[in-house]
Amino acid sequence: MSTDIEILWPADRVPITVLLDDPLPGRNPLWYENPAAGHAREIPNAFVERFADVIDRTGAAGKFSVIPCPGATGCLDSGVLDVPNSVIGEFLDIVRTRIAPRWDISPEMLTHNRALDLTTMRPLDEREDVWAAHQTEETLYPYIARALRILRDVRLEPNGVTSPWAFAKEVEADYQRAMSRALHDVCGVDVGWYFLDADGQSAAAAPRVVLLDASRGRSLVSLISGNQSDFLWRTQMGEEAPLDAMLTADRSSGRFAELFASGQAFAFHTHWQSLFSNGSEAGLHAFEELCGRINGWGDRIRWTPARELALYATARDATQIDVADGTIRFSAPFACPEFTISVPHPDAASTLTAGGTELRKLAPDQPLEEGAWHSDGDRALVCLGLLDGLTLNWESG
Ligand SMILES: [Zn+2]
Repeated sequence: MSTDIEILWPADRVPITVLLDDPLPGRNPLWYENPAAGHAREIPNAFVERFADVIDRTGAAGKFSVIPCPGATGCLDSGVLDVPNSVIGEFLDIVRTRIAPRWDISPEMLTHNRALDLTTMRPLDEREDVWAAHQTEETLYPYIARALRILRDVRLEPNGVTSPWAFAKEVEADYQRAMSRALHDVCGVDVGWYFLDADGQSAAAAPRVVLLDASRGRSLVSLISGNQSDFLWRTQMGEEAPLDAMLTADRSSGRFAELFASGQAFAFHTHWQSLFSNGSEAGLHAFEELCGRINGWGDRIRWTPARELALYATARDATQIDVADGTIRFSAPFACPEFTISVPHPDAASTLTAGGTELRKLAPDQPLEEGAWHSDGDRALVCLGLLDGLTLNWESG
């Protein structure tokens, strides 16, 4: 790759992705985990609607887990103990129509509780993360495939996987291959993503491409949470959310200010029960406030669904860019919208063509968009619909 050319994020904006763990119909996920701890048992569907209202108002996007077999007490496609089918149906309707358009769906393995025997669908003694630690690709594959299949059977379209706790961290290479195969076989998804790791320390927390097979057009991307622990968790105990530690109202400091300054895409995570806050919904209010602060960055950021982030991260890694006789040529095994690069801007050149078609020249202060470019001193920022074999040429006059 020419060292003179730098690949930027889509339309030169920092992608931000919310990783929302643990949603399930009708119940508080924490109640399943510890019924004696005094947490509210139910989360009504009216709360799901209010969450959908918040993402409509803020534009926030990311991934949304749906646990296929909540608490190991039945599965969404066949019925869950003590949760009326009408409640499950309403929940799924809201997810399909109001959340899934901008939030990619994943299972958070089967139960987020005890592991299931796939033959009987009865719980084993071990919790899923304990069970996963001694599995292999061959045993993880059918487990993940079953989780994806149940969500497909209730007419959701999962395209990634979320790990309950630190599921399969001990056997992550096997886990990655199992996920990639299951996403392909059950969902027809070739560019997949998963969430397992958090990094609250490093200056950047960009997604990582962990499997890449350009010849078959397959990849798997690890989405990293930039916050180590859930900053909304303690709202369940009536405490105020420490939003300033994430981002102050003036955006001058906090973990997200640091991640934004890195210029790299980043993600952050929270939990369904943390938004519900045992009924006070203090977490949801704090989440909306935080999204509002992030929106203060205007068009320097973009809320980005998980699948879009995974595709872009894959295209960044897989694309070769060569320059010969003034022609910039892309070898791109993964087509990608809004592929954005910074290239040297030759002095005399005023016109830029892509595949023979002239790209629109924008004023430097106009936001970049696909099929357009603008000058940035001696560099040009160019935003393209990336296709294999595409060429760029400068012309004068
Ligand atoms: Zn979880």
